[in-house]
Amino acid sequence: MTYTITLIPGDGIGPEVTTAARKIIDATGVSINWELCEAGASVFKKGQATGVPQETIDSIMRNKVALKGPLETPIGFGEKSANVTLRKLFEAYGNIRPVREIPGIKTPYQGRNIDFVIVRENLEDLYAGIEHMQTPGVAQCLKIISRKGCEKIVRLAFEFARSEGRKSVHCATKANIMKLSEGLLKRTFEEIAAEYTDIKAEHIIVDNAAHQLVRRPEQFEVIVTTNMNGDILSDLGSALIGGLGFAPSANIGDDYAIFEAVHGSAPKYAGKNNINPTAVLMSGVMMLRHLGEFDAANAIEQSLYVTFDIDDKQLRDTKGTDGAISTTEFTDAVIANLGKKHPTCPSRAYHPIKLPKVSKEPDLVKVKTRQVNGIDVFLESAAAVNEIGATLESALIDAPVCLKMISSRGVKLYPGTNPTADVVDMLTARLMVRDSTYSLTDMDIARVIEKISPCYRWNHIEKLNVFDGKPGYTKSHGEE
Ligand code: NAP
Repeated sequence: MTYTITLIPGDGIGPEVTTAARKIIDATGVSINWELCEAGASVFKKGQATGVPQETIDSIMRNKVALKGPLETPIGFGEKSANVTLRKLFEAYGNIRPVREIPGIKTPYQGRNIDFVIVRENLEDLYAGIEHMQTPGVAQCLKIISRKGCEKIVRLAFEFARSEGRKSVHCATKANIMKLSEGLLKRTFEEIAAEYTDIKAEHIIVDNAAHQLVRRPEQFEVIVTTNMNGDILSDLGSALIGGLGFAPSANIGDDYAIFEAVHGSAPKYAGKNNINPTAVLMSGVMMLRHLGEFDAANAIEQSLYVTFDIDDKQLRDTKGTDGAISTTEFTDAVIANLGKKHPTCPSRAYHPIKLPKVSKEPDLVKVKTRQVNGIDVFLESAAAVNEIGATLESALIDAPVCLKMISSRGVKLYPGTNPTADVVDMLTARLMVRDSTYSLTDMDIARVIEKISPCYRWNHIEKLNVFDGKPGYTKSHGEE
């Protein structure tokens, strides 16, 4: 059969690395009709604000699979990254980043058999990019984590582990500090792990995960994590095996899959014919496995191992300028070695991945009871906190809420004294219902704000929800 696949050469070194990958994939005999599409810098420069033209979107919609080179977001043209736009447009919620030692690539870890995969949530977290200046001097970025997003990524991680015959999955979070957001991934992981009794499931705090990845990376098989953690851990991972030139990735969704190197467009190397195409080629290998072309995928992987290790043919990034071969010479060498097998490094026994099915209902989590038992009002003021406290208490004297405390950047300042706190001009007034059984209405909140506005500028309000009796908010440091 012939596959039709969208190919986005991309910017900088993108055309060189994707040409190399395409030539090698074609040489395996898998029949692919490549549909060439644009995205990135050239598109921004034409005045297209998203960096992704409609023809490219239509092509991926039709073909369901794309191989893409790196895309730049030129400063001054458009705000959002075209890469992130593509991932979001196609609901590619899972970013799979394998980190496997490549024979012949010299690193301090050579011989340690590093072979793990980071499964990074790709759409939520701080990368939702919802940012606001709360005051002229205080910025805020919302960390959005949903139960649905967690369930999808956790199931994908377990299914991926099964497809590669792996025996353990670690979940790396900062749930000890961000108990609700990062904690949601931890809790979801622990619930879903019970369904995968054939796989050992373990939670690890993400900073320790970084430490352990450097000390003993061979202990990991699959690490599932949130978007930001995954971004950082996977770059760390790529450095363990030789650098960004060796780090492939797959963006997986229910219906679409986009394969790309982890690296960017490395503009200083563009057109020099000395860049390493392995990362995008290995992304192509992941694509072949996604298509069920396991033999062709293994043939490329083995040929790469033979080229690097047995023939000792290396590129600038691992050999320096002396003795390195060019990108095109490397491409020819890998093609010439197709069919050869590395004597000691077999490819894994891969199996088709079963994509998880998670309900598409927007309100995945339903509750029986809910109460709004207060509000947090974010005020902009440079006044002394005791003065603000006294003013709010008198302004709210006949309101259904009273001032419980004032905090700054998550630390309680009022009532009481916190002599060491260095405050900024964004303060949070926590107002709680006077009658603990009462649930605030929107009209109550509007009236409370009416009372506060003449005294202080407010920029933001959060309802303090209680779902099924459990507070849906955390306490400040120092709050009782
Ligand atoms: P980068 O392009 O990844 O390059 C950083 C460094 O990584 C290079 O200077 C080079 O290091 C090494 N490197 C990257 N690709 C390599 C390869 N194929 N072979 C060998 N070495 C490689 O990161 P950047 O310079 O920060 O970003 C440049 C542009 O790419 C930016 O516009 C950024 O937004 C974009 N970007 C796009 C993507 C994407 O499309 N997914 C991802 C990241 C960044 P040495 O100089 O030490 O050899």
